[in-house]
Amino acid sequence: MTAATEPVLVIGAGVQGLTCGVVLAEAGRAVRIRTADRPRESTSAAAGAMWGPAQLRPAERVLYWVTRSHAEFTALAREEDSGVHLAGGRMAARFDLGDAVPTEARLIPDLRRCSPDELPEGFVSGYWGTVPLIDMPRYLDHLVARFQRAGGDLQISPVPSLADAVAESGTVVNCTGLGARELVGDPGVHPVRGQGVVVRNPGIDEYFIELTDSGEFAAFMPHGDHVVLGGVAESHEWHLGARPEVTAGIRRRCAAIEPRLADAEVLGEPVGLRPGRESVRVEVEHYRGGRIIHNYGHGGCGVALSWGCAFEVADLVEG
Ligand SMILES: Cc1cc2nc3c(=O)[nH]c(=O)nc-3n(C[C@H](O)[C@H](O)[C@H](O)COP(=O)(O)OP(=O)(O)OC[C@H]3O[C@@H](n4cnc5c(N)ncnc54)[C@H](O)[C@@H]3O)c2cc1C
Repeated sequence: MTAATEPVLVIGAGVQGLTCGVVLAEAGRAVRIRTADRPRESTSAAAGAMWGPAQLRPAERVLYWVTRSHAEFTALAREEDSGVHLAGGRMAARFDLGDAVPTEARLIPDLRRCSPDELPEGFVSGYWGTVPLIDMPRYLDHLVARFQRAGGDLQISPVPSLADAVAESGTVVNCTGLGARELVGDPGVHPVRGQGVVVRNPGIDEYFIELTDSGEFAAFMPHGDHVVLGGVAESHEWHLGARPEVTAGIRRRCAAIEPRLADAEVLGEPVGLRPGRESVRVEVEHYRGGRIIHNYGHGGCGVALSWGCAFEVADLVEG
């Protein structure tokens, strides 16, 4: 087998691993994904999720990744079964946001400031704009189907070590999210726990996201028959079960903004551990005669960055 025909081994089948798998397989590469958990059991499945400006580092590359992803998600919104659709809604804060708009927010075609009467009580500043919303369980199914249609091989089989990975393939793409802490031995990766509440949709078609640095905020994203409510961001917290008091807090904050959510039937309480890191790691490491292309540490923005990172990973694989 030559380097060009040997399957690339992608580790992880969250949004990052699957998107890398799709990009590589559709470019004609043989690709195998090995994953410890099924896609619907990953952190990615618990995300709300929306494409939105990402305040992560390294800033210039994040801007490129988020821009590239915006174009892909906008195109995916035209595909019926992708789980992606475009929706209008508000991004608002309880403090004055000032006039500075993040560069990538300019990608939102109809972005405009909210008038005071459009803001919920307690909010003083905000924007209205149309963004891609992603129904993650459906979207992950879409990526798996697309990957397999392109000839990709998906195996539920944990990778015990990087040495095992490079013994299997000379080109490895590491998309293990929080799992990189152990697999790579990177102590800079840490959990930022999130919990959502999925409710039957009482007729909502606009999203809302509270802009804040606080670990507790209000967010809701409609996906047809259901709405995903958030949220919390609990740093260095590993607990994977849903906490009733967190659910109650999320419902209270969201209902204060959209009263129809107060009594909506609860369908699920997904929990996910975001892979926090000081900066996203997309780079090549030469390891025991093989190449490992790392792609992890996307914090609370792994969906929004996914296509841009995957295209960069594909360039690194070829380069
Ligand atoms: C409640 C919540 C809301 C969020 N909302 C948004 C949002 O609106 N927009 C947004 O952009 N992002 C959002 N995020 C963040 C986003 O979900 C993450 O950034 C993203 O899921 C990270 O994707 P990933 O593929 O890197 O990791 P994961 O989804 O965690 O996938 C990692 C994969 O690696 C596998 N793995 C790990 N170790 C090994 C091993 N040794 N061998 C084999 N496989 C292994 C796992 O099984 C898994 O398949 C949210 C997150 C949460 C929790």
